[in-house]
Amino acid sequence: MMNSFLRNTAQDILKNHKTLQDLVIVLPNRRAGLFFKQHLGSLIDSPIWMPEIKTIEDVFYQLAAQRPADELSLIFELYKTYQNLNPVAESFDQFYFWGEMILKDFNDVDQFMANAEKLYLHLSEIKEIESDLSFLSPSQIELIKQFWNAFQRQDRRHQEKFLRFWQLLGPLYKNYQVALDVSELSYPGKIYRKVAMGLELQAVPEKKYIFVGFNAFTTTEEKLVKYFISEFGAEIYWDIDAYYLEDRHQEAGMFFREYQKDKIFGPTFPEIIPNHIEVRQANIKTYATPLKSNQANLVGAILEKVDPQENWEETVVILPDEQLLFPVLHVLPDRISKVNVTMGYPIRNAPVYAFLEAVLEMQRFVKMDGENVLFYHQQIKNLLSTIYLKTAAPEFATKLLQIVQDQNMIHIPLPMLQEGGGLYQLVFQKVEAANLFSYLADLIRALAEHLEEEPLQRTYLFQCFKQLIRFREVLEKQEIQRLDMEFMIRLFRQIFREVKLPFEGEPLQGLQLMGVLESRNLDFRRVIICNMNEDSFPPSGGLNSMIPFNIRRAFGLPVQEQNDAIYAYTFYRLLHSAEEVHMIYATASDQGKAGEKSRYIQQMQIEMGLDQKDEVVFVPIDLKATGEINIEKTPEVLAQLERYIVRNDGSSVTSFSPSAINMFIDCRLKFYLRYLAGLEEKEEVKEEVDAAVFGNIAHYSMEFLYQGCIERKKRQVLVHEDFDDLKKNWVYPAIEKGVRKFYKLEDDKDTRLNGQIAIVRDVLHRYIIRLLDIDQASAPIQILSMEKEHRASFEVKAAYGDFKVALKGFIDRVDLQQGSIRLIDYKSGADKKDFAQVEDLFDANLKKRNKAAMQTLFYGLLYQSMYPENTLPLKPALFNFKEVFKEDFNPYLQEKQARKTGVEVNDYKDYQENFEYHLSEKLSEIFNPSLLFDQTEDLDKCKNCPYKEICGR
Ligand code: SF4
Repeated sequence: MMNSFLRNTAQDILKNHKTLQDLVIVLPNRRAGLFFKQHLGSLIDSPIWMPEIKTIEDVFYQLAAQRPADELSLIFELYKTYQNLNPVAESFDQFYFWGEMILKDFNDVDQFMANAEKLYLHLSEIKEIESDLSFLSPSQIELIKQFWNAFQRQDRRHQEKFLRFWQLLGPLYKNYQVALDVSELSYPGKIYRKVAMGLELQAVPEKKYIFVGFNAFTTTEEKLVKYFISEFGAEIYWDIDAYYLEDRHQEAGMFFREYQKDKIFGPTFPEIIPNHIEVRQANIKTYATPLKSNQANLVGAILEKVDPQENWEETVVILPDEQLLFPVLHVLPDRISKVNVTMGYPIRNAPVYAFLEAVLEMQRFVKMDGENVLFYHQQIKNLLSTIYLKTAAPEFATKLLQIVQDQNMIHIPLPMLQEGGGLYQLVFQKVEAANLFSYLADLIRALAEHLEEEPLQRTYLFQCFKQLIRFREVLEKQEIQRLDMEFMIRLFRQIFREVKLPFEGEPLQGLQLMGVLESRNLDFRRVIICNMNEDSFPPSGGLNSMIPFNIRRAFGLPVQEQNDAIYAYTFYRLLHSAEEVHMIYATASDQGKAGEKSRYIQQMQIEMGLDQKDEVVFVPIDLKATGEINIEKTPEVLAQLERYIVRNDGSSVTSFSPSAINMFIDCRLKFYLRYLAGLEEKEEVKEEVDAAVFGNIAHYSMEFLYQGCIERKKRQVLVHEDFDDLKKNWVYPAIEKGVRKFYKLEDDKDTRLNGQIAIVRDVLHRYIIRLLDIDQASAPIQILSMEKEHRASFEVKAAYGDFKVALKGFIDRVDLQQGSIRLIDYKSGADKKDFAQVEDLFDANLKKRNKAAMQTLFYGLLYQSMYPENTLPLKPALFNFKEVFKEDFNPYLQEKQARKTGVEVNDYKDYQENFEYHLSEKLSEIFNPSLLFDQTEDLDKCKNCPYKEICGR
């Protein structure tokens, strides 16, 4: 049978005590108590009275006949005291964070029985004497600065204010004690201190106390336990191993060595210290995984190899980082039917938190238009994409998202959202600040009802619901002066972000999944520890405290050293009974921190002479670390390219646009990602009318304008007078139509909702009048086509064989003017029109390569290829809006060497041979199987690239 401290202890107690009901067994936490009870039960074969099993907290609270109040009420009380001391106190939500920290400090001060008056006086004395902040760590100075900055940004007298703040803490502590006594509230430390101070007055307890499995006592705990041992004959069982106890360099044994020297604790240590770790010589394996997220898969793989006949209770997965909980749960082998999770799971990592955040954001931006309630599109999109709303009405959510997208809706009216049914009606409503918490609680209850099949999710939703109800009750008791939405949302965030949902499986069966500290006193045959990285196990330093390190230390409050010793003990403790240990760490950096393996691994490898190398598992591409991405032309990639090839019947699956060619010249990888891997840029609802939106509306408006004229006059030719009529009567209606087309609005939909569009209309009007002036000056003009797709089949001559590819492009306007066919492109920017030579248009290394010129010459190719019989000159033209107001505006391309007079491009055919030669070269590069799709070296090109996250640039 596996060695077990709790079982051995139960056996010993059973052997030494005839009547268990006369005993109180005190353990560090509830979990250990449950296991102890189970062991004891398994050792007894006839029904007998069980002993009382308690945690040390229970003992204190029972002796004091008082339990601590909840933290929110305590912080409210603290705030009231603070307000009395500080006439310019900030609002409660701003204070909350500091309140939590101050309360934690007060708790420590009392738990460790420090002299609060002296401690806080001391602080201010140091301040007065030194009048500098050198004894504070930079992060503490930063925290205090933030605190003060909250209500006085430009403050020249910072130091003075710091001093005043420290001085405030002493009176705050003192007055707070009085305030709590009056309202009969207390925090744990206050209760502990009260009990420890009054031990001498305690009557001899009726039952015998046995303390089991403690490691690091607080001062109050130590005082109580010692008193019970010396005065009431209490016993104590230490959960120890010679491995770390007898080696004075081992931090894991730090507390025990101190206790061994103590005159009361010393004699309670066993004569023979167990030596499990050395004797057992567990089989220890260490794994390095490149990414943190791979660890879950590795856990799954390790568990997969376990003999299914084994007791799963004897295997534990330790998760120092709660974020891994759900990934691990998802990869557990099917044959593990029971899993027991014991840990606090931060609500901010749960999907429900993201949902609540989106709901709050939605409430923040509710807009009223008369009686109508409107919601802002961004939050609606977020909400409709959450699992909760999606599963409640999948088709409705998809359809609505599509409508929002297609119609570019910025605000979505309430009735439209409520059509989704019950849950939608609950979520989408305008809520008053005072009802916010009730509204959220109702939502959570409704969500849980929808998730009957998901017991785990239901568990934490239930916890979440409980927390909200509790907060609501506490808030209702407070007199909050400010009660607007912003305040309530900030308060909710402050309070809720830090909440941990307690997962506590009662049935002690199945695979055990737990946090580090939850494993105290428990024994397992197989131990799998994830995230064995520095900063995670042990967790990084930085106690959140207003009391500087040296003062904490001087007054006997715990500092990082104690914390480290506790973690070290917990780690070695896991080895007491382990036969198989798997330690996993990540090598990739995480949030800027390098992936360094935990010092415990290093320590053990040296101590135990483990010379085997860490096993490196799962090596995916760590994009950020490698920096280079090269895509080879594998058969799959070539198959994608094949879609551009013109088949024997003249068809092709798809074709190259000038944008695709331009993208390939700019960055070969970007071309691959966009056109071959199909990673399209996400289409966003365009709210800001940016240059692209403006350009699009302008295109459409011009098309409607000329098309309307052609239809009315029943001729393709526009003469001088036509332009007068157009300018006078038709510009606004054409813009209106353009706006509708762009935003995909039905005819009866109102376009007035957005003020920006009104401005665009006016600006656009000016531009279009100007364009009409320009065209009028060159009238008559014969419109040949507008917004028409032009296609060509283009022969590529490559060293590895010739082939034909399909090309296409939409030419904004083709017209005939003074004997030339003009190929016109409207541009919203200030694109240049000159280029030195055709070759330059394809030169990837040229910083200012003229893409617009390449595009319009490409149109020449398309047009000539579609109408090979054409003998008229083909004149590419760019109507770039940023330049149309210039006096000397000229839309035609110029071939122009630096500092020389340019030559106007009058006919594409003059450039045809050269242009097609270079285009063919580019296309042959695209298809060349031996060339890679690699990244550009010009980082400027990455700046606005949608794929920069993939590239890590
Ligand atoms: S980020 Fe840079 S290297 Fe990556 S695809 Fe975009 S342009 Fe190319």
